[in-house]
Amino acid sequence: MATGSSGSKRTRRRRARPRVAVLRVGHRVGRDPRLTTHLALAARALGAERMYLEPADPALTERVAALARGWGGAFVVDGVDDWRRVVRSFPGRVVHLTMYGEPLARALPRLRGSDRLLLVVGGAKVPPDLYRLAHANVAVGAQPHSEVAAVAIVLDRLLGGPDRARFPGARRRVVPQARGKKVVTLRSGSR
Ligand code: SAM
Repeated sequence: MATGSSGSKRTRRRRARPRVAVLRVGHRVGRDPRLTTHLALAARALGAERMYLEPADPALTERVAALARGWGGAFVVDGVDDWRRVVRSFPGRVVHLTMYGEPLARALPRLRGSDRLLLVVGGAKVPPDLYRLAHANVAVGAQPHSEVAAVAIVLDRLLGGPDRARFPGARRRVVPQARGKKVVTLRSGSR
């Protein structure tokens, strides 16, 4: 049996995971705070590096920053005035998540082969030119649901689930329990 071939387990290199950012377009300041906060928290917990938020919502950015100070990691929410500029200047593949797009399973190999990805999600209304400006329009099923679900599923498939996300500098950490809650406080922050 051939050993050491490029296909063998021993010599196969572990594939680098893409760096992923999220862009949320059409946030309604004062009307969507809970949903957009959940989007940011899901993106963070499942391994995204940052979320661009259009339009900016400084109170939301600060709420997420306060959470990240306790639970670790470098995730930030960046308010932006012009989402088109973010899309045009992003140094990687721009993927608009929409129920009208190509199936996720078909797009995944291409997405996994990218170094950097920007996952773009809309709100109540999606600007029509987003379909053209994105490199790909990708659907998580062809039924309407939610930006939180769409981002969570794509991050899970791409990055391998919440246990792969890292949160250095955390001041507290959950110790998983079959029942009840256990949280430890870390004096100097975890690495
Ligand atoms: N009527 C809106 C539209 O024009 O698409 C639906 C908005 S939906 C409440 C908010 C966002 O969730 C969408 O812009 C899209 O990014 C995401 N989304 C909802 N269902 C999706 C699906 N099946 N696949 C991918 N993304 C989805």
